[in-house]
Amino acid sequence: MKKFALSALVAAMSVAGAAHAGVTDKDILNDQMTAEDVVTNGMGPRAQRYSPMDKINTKTVKDMRPVWAFSFGGEKQRGQESQPLIKDGVMYVTASYSRVFAIDTKTGEELWEYNARLPDGIMPCCDVINRGVALYDNLVIFGTLDAKLVALDAKTGKVKWKKKVADYKAGYSITAAPLIAKGKVITGVSGGEFGIVGKVEAYDAKTGKLAWTRPTVEGHMGYIWKDGKKMENGISGGEAGKTWPGDLWKSGGAATWLGGTYDPDVDLLFFGTGNPAPWNSHLRPGDNLFSSSRLAIDPDTGKIVWHFQTTPHDGWDYDGVNELVSFDYKANGKTVKAAATADRNGFMYVLNRENGDFIRGFPFVDKITWAKGLDPKTGRPIYDDANRPGNPADSADGKKGKSVVAIPSFLGGKNWMPIAYSQDTELFYVPSNEWAMDIWNEPTAYKKGAAYLGAGFTIKPMNDEYIGVLRAMDPKTGKEVWRKTNYAPLWGGVLATKGNLVFYGTPEGYLLGLNAKTGEEVYKFNTGSGIVGSPVTWEQDGEQFLSVVSGWGGAVPLWGGEVAKRVKHLNQGGTVWTFKLPK
Ligand code: CA
Ligand code: CA
Repeated sequence: MKKFALSALVAAMSVAGAAHAGVTDKDILNDQMTAEDVVTNGMGPRAQRYSPMDKINTKTVKDMRPVWAFSFGGEKQRGQESQPLIKDGVMYVTASYSRVFAIDTKTGEELWEYNARLPDGIMPCCDVINRGVALYDNLVIFGTLDAKLVALDAKTGKVKWKKKVADYKAGYSITAAPLIAKGKVITGVSGGEFGIVGKVEAYDAKTGKLAWTRPTVEGHMGYIWKDGKKMENGISGGEAGKTWPGDLWKSGGAATWLGGTYDPDVDLLFFGTGNPAPWNSHLRPGDNLFSSSRLAIDPDTGKIVWHFQTTPHDGWDYDGVNELVSFDYKANGKTVKAAATADRNGFMYVLNRENGDFIRGFPFVDKITWAKGLDPKTGRPIYDDANRPGNPADSADGKKGKSVVAIPSFLGGKNWMPIAYSQDTELFYVPSNEWAMDIWNEPTAYKKGAAYLGAGFTIKPMNDEYIGVLRAMDPKTGKEVWRKTNYAPLWGGVLATKGNLVFYGTPEGYLLGLNAKTGEEVYKFNTGSGIVGSPVTWEQDGEQFLSVVSGWGGAVPLWGGEVAKRVKHLNQGGTVWTFKLPK
């Protein structure tokens, strides 16, 4: 109660000083409860994607209608996976090909556009997408496909500072929205299919000066800069090759491509890491730390405080990047400081967010073949060795290992698309997919800037009627409370509100609103292209608004095999839609 009163006071103070103040750390920490703005990816640093607004609710939502739509234009549209941010009547939203737009939230008119001039040699694995900006002070900060961080003047869109985070020629790129914590802008990197070395880095948000760097493959040291001096901050990440054979840790992957969340309560950053490289697991016996893991990182130093590996010795491209979302619950009269994540590998995990201890894990998809289950004490998967793709060295010509059917496919029980947690229903809303793949291993060797997989694959649907399933999951029991299926795979994020509503979009173009308790569909509007972005809601002049970006694309059309053929009729686009109730 005391805590709430304090945050309300802080919120009141920040409103009073809002006119020219720019976004402060307090605005960011309070984002979830302050309806008049959306200043973080995830609608709060914990990324619960929950709004306390209820003017749009199960009774009124049927009257919700679009008030404006804004086109990103351009000949090249492609996937639009962005989440808009809103501050002082301006929307900041990113578009494909590393573009940023500032839009008047009342009229939908463009205020400015920033278009990063990308070099020809960029190597995005999974479409030319971007997932959104960060706001700090009077800056709009985002990551580019050539692996830079760019800070723009919020008023003009002019570049204030620009930093190279990594070498795009080696396969690095940035697609995630940066995260702001304690005055620092924190970013990860993409590139796990090119044998890069994943890392998390913190920069002074106002100046762009590097504060610390934390590689995510065991063996690489991290560093912090203090008073102009470079110091090691590795500690739990130092020993070279301990869980890797030979020199493979030097190109070990573990890309931090989805960015992270920040929990002020335990003062930790949570970042996930992608697959170990290459995909062919027979080349790298061992757990291959810190790949396919969740990492808790000290925001002041970059030190890894704890780690939880969801898929040790991954052999299926089960990136462990998916967001770790903090929530509290009561058990035996005590408050448990937990965090949950729904992994590519098909299991959902509930962890103790203070120390990374495993609390429970359970499948959130109908079928999992690669593991028989999870160790109830540690959460470590119990592998089914017959279902690991075979070693090419065991084949007659050494060129192709035994092919297996693996479920989920490497695009995951859940991929990047963020979950939401409702504080009212105490349920997680998980956008998931039911699909399988044939996967086999091949020989490979690392070469800078070249694909580094050592695997081949074909993704296939498992049902004629649907691939996508929005699931309401109870984190205390592991039970699915309700589901809503969708013909095409789901690829966009979810929003939960106090209006007992859950919003999300589909590749077929629909923005859907469901009753959060029952899953009953109560709203449906077609935006003209597939939705792979994440909806947000905010308040302006006493009215509740809702926005979502529409524009089909992302990894599915590029890598989806037979699923890609099933959805090849879907049209591309690039439009922000904004809705409200009539006056
Ligand atoms: Ca807010
Ligand atoms: Ca990957």
